[in-house]
Amino acid sequence: MMGTLVDFTLYGANKKNASIAIKAAADEMQRIENSFTIYGESDNAVKAFNASTLYTQQKLPEEVDKLLNTAEQINMQSKGAFSITLGALNKLWGFSATEAPTTPPPANEVVRLLKDSTACLQQQSGKRWKRTKPECRLDFGAIAKGYAIDRGIEQLRENGIDNAIINAGGDIRVIGSHGERPWQVGIRHPRNPNKVIATLKIEGDVSIVTSGDYERTYIFDGMRYHHILDPANGQPAGKSQSATVIARNATMADGWSTALFVLGKKGLSLVESRGMDALLVSEDGSIHSTEGIETRLQLSLSPPMLRTSD
Ligand code: ADP
Ligand code: MG
Repeated sequence: MMGTLVDFTLYGANKKNASIAIKAAADEMQRIENSFTIYGESDNAVKAFNASTLYTQQKLPEEVDKLLNTAEQINMQSKGAFSITLGALNKLWGFSATEAPTTPPPANEVVRLLKDSTACLQQQSGKRWKRTKPECRLDFGAIAKGYAIDRGIEQLRENGIDNAIINAGGDIRVIGSHGERPWQVGIRHPRNPNKVIATLKIEGDVSIVTSGDYERTYIFDGMRYHHILDPANGQPAGKSQSATVIARNATMADGWSTALFVLGKKGLSLVESRGMDALLVSEDGSIHSTEGIETRLQLSLSPPMLRTSD
């Protein structure tokens, strides 16, 4: 689902209940992918909105309206680093297409679409929204996976599961514990898939989501191009190799990991001021984190990766 393998780990449940719960969670996550994706053939409310006539108000389904409000809030709080209206630019760069891109698009096309891609939504009352620029297109790619994980956890709980992990390609939410032991989660090294930069021991209800420049990427003319764009210039964001956010729910962790990736290390204080923790690998490979993360989260940074102070 959502371009990745989704793993369910359940502890302390019998096999039959576990299978029922996992099926319910997986179905719900698939439903969310179908409701929010702007790719593929089938219709949904997001695609319909993206094709709607300018300045005509569209009533969105409650769930879409709600996630759009959350996204707009993160947009404001991240000073524009997170933007839900980059759909046209994301499609131009092509990282979510079936065939992986190998060369960057023409610069004048980027500039043209960028003009339409920010500050192009108007909210009315009663879940109604308007598009105000022709190339203004919603794209929930940076937050829908987190939301799907949260909904998956909800389904597990409704089916009587108290201890579990949902892991969608490294984006994780944990509930409960692993018997007497805490769950252990490794954060991978952005340049070496076999290495971890840190290990977290966690219990209770926690989400850990990483945005990285290493998953959908290519090198062209010695430059790395990847799928997280800086809404300031429409180009792949250059301040980070990976950004990991630890928050109570996966929707927030997902949205903010993308925002933090764009902001780079200067975004750490912002994330912290909103009550979340984070680990950031800057473009030069140095590792930074929110203050006090070690004591709050039983985090161990893996040697020889040493943490640098900001
Ligand atoms: P992943 O899809 O690898 O989990 P992210 O959560 O960081 O990574 O989401 C990246 C996706 O979000 C891109 O594929 C694109 O659809 C969209 N996107 C790219 N740049 C931004 C941005 N600055 N703000 C919001 N969404 C973005
Ligand atoms: Mg994200």
